[in-house]
Amino acid sequence: MENRTHTADVAAGETATVAGWVHEIRDLGGIAFLILRDRTGKLQIKFEKDEMDEDLVETGLDVHRESVVTVTGAVEEEPRAPTGLEMVPDSLDVLAGADPELPLDPSGKVDAELPTRLDNRTLDLRKPEVKAIFEIRSEILRSVREYFRSVGSTEINTPKIVATGTEGGTELFPITYFGQEAFMNQSPQLFKQLMVGSGLERVFEIGPIFRAEEHNTPRHLNEATMIDFESAFVDHHEAMDVCEGTLKAAYEGVAENCAEELELLGYDDFAVPEDDFPRLTYEEAIERVNATGELDEQLVWGDDLPTEAEKALGSDVGGHYFITDWPSEIKPFYIQDYDDDPQLSKGFDLMHPRMELVSGGQREHRYDELVAGFEQQGLDPEQFDYYTRMFRYGMPPHAGWAYGVERLVMTMLDLDNIREAVLFPRDRQRLSP
Ligand code: ATP
Ligand code: MG
Repeated sequence: MENRTHTADVAAGETATVAGWVHEIRDLGGIAFLILRDRTGKLQIKFEKDEMDEDLVETGLDVHRESVVTVTGAVEEEPRAPTGLEMVPDSLDVLAGADPELPLDPSGKVDAELPTRLDNRTLDLRKPEVKAIFEIRSEILRSVREYFRSVGSTEINTPKIVATGTEGGTELFPITYFGQEAFMNQSPQLFKQLMVGSGLERVFEIGPIFRAEEHNTPRHLNEATMIDFESAFVDHHEAMDVCEGTLKAAYEGVAENCAEELELLGYDDFAVPEDDFPRLTYEEAIERVNATGELDEQLVWGDDLPTEAEKALGSDVGGHYFITDWPSEIKPFYIQDYDDDPQLSKGFDLMHPRMELVSGGQREHRYDELVAGFEQQGLDPEQFDYYTRMFRYGMPPHAGWAYGVERLVMTMLDLDNIREAVLFPRDRQRLSP
């Protein structure tokens, strides 16, 4: 629409054409108001029944809520209107009517359960506070991309249909690829590693991952968006520096560019993490968990951190932190072990007090060690020949990591459920829409 003005941009004394949804109709008898809503806000349209064309009044006041209309009229100052402005319509067209019964109420007066909201995401996202989550998500991705570019990283896109998984046959969704078994990729891990040995050296990818995890939790999806980073000639500590920088850049971007959205969501004290994130070794982490006395059973060296341990440690530390130097056993085979202590790996996790956000590490770039790792993991290196072969042609030392975008949004905005941070979640119960 060429001559459309957004409601936020209309000015008193001008004639304008606005377009949007009928948010509400308030009929007070001789006078009635239609509240029109667009993505920038709302505008009050005034109908003075005795002074206006009968057809216009009828069309304007008989239209159902959430219908799409366009209205042209003079904009006037009106201190009693919510925005201090109102429009006196000359014409009103209904572009798309809405049924009188709606599956959920976009004005938010009637609360809907999450499944109803997800079934009707279009209507759900007409609510400003739901829309705000996705504006913030978009800003996070923008700032993250900008940060990656500022540290010399190239954006790549790798295949999502693959012949073999990253860590073997578990947790993969099988598909049929021209009569051959294939899978939806669970991580760009192997592809991004192949790229650090290419002319690109330092890469990032933002894309979907697919995991056939059976569990149904508030922080797992079966399709998620991952932010992956991998760089040649860095060790795990330098990779953690970039990881920390990315996270801070995301918070800064949101603080700078999403003030309105944060206000809508009720964050008047949104804080950008400023201090360096503590880097606890795994050993320090389990000692600290045990010292909280929060767990029924003390952790011993070699245990993975159960959810309760993550929570106890999170509230003890009180902010983002890294856990480094994990036992090799519980980290994937492509993570490098310390030469002087092969029980210990150069893997790390970035934790938010509520949950794990990132896993990463220094990778094994030496061919013989890599192949041995596959075998120790019970995987057939032959199947991964496309990957291991490149380690015979000059693969530099490298490190990297991966975030879940939804977990970043969820922890940043303190959402209860990861499904709030994705438009159309895929989980055990949900394949449509
Ligand atoms: P968790 O132990 O919490 O299930 P993970 O260790 O299996 O996660 P990684 O393979 O380390 O996950 O993936 C890197 C990051 O991707 C995680 O730290 C998390 O932020 C995100 N992620 C992984 N799996 C999921 C999932 N099923 N749903 C949403 N995000 C996920
Ligand atoms: Mg992990």
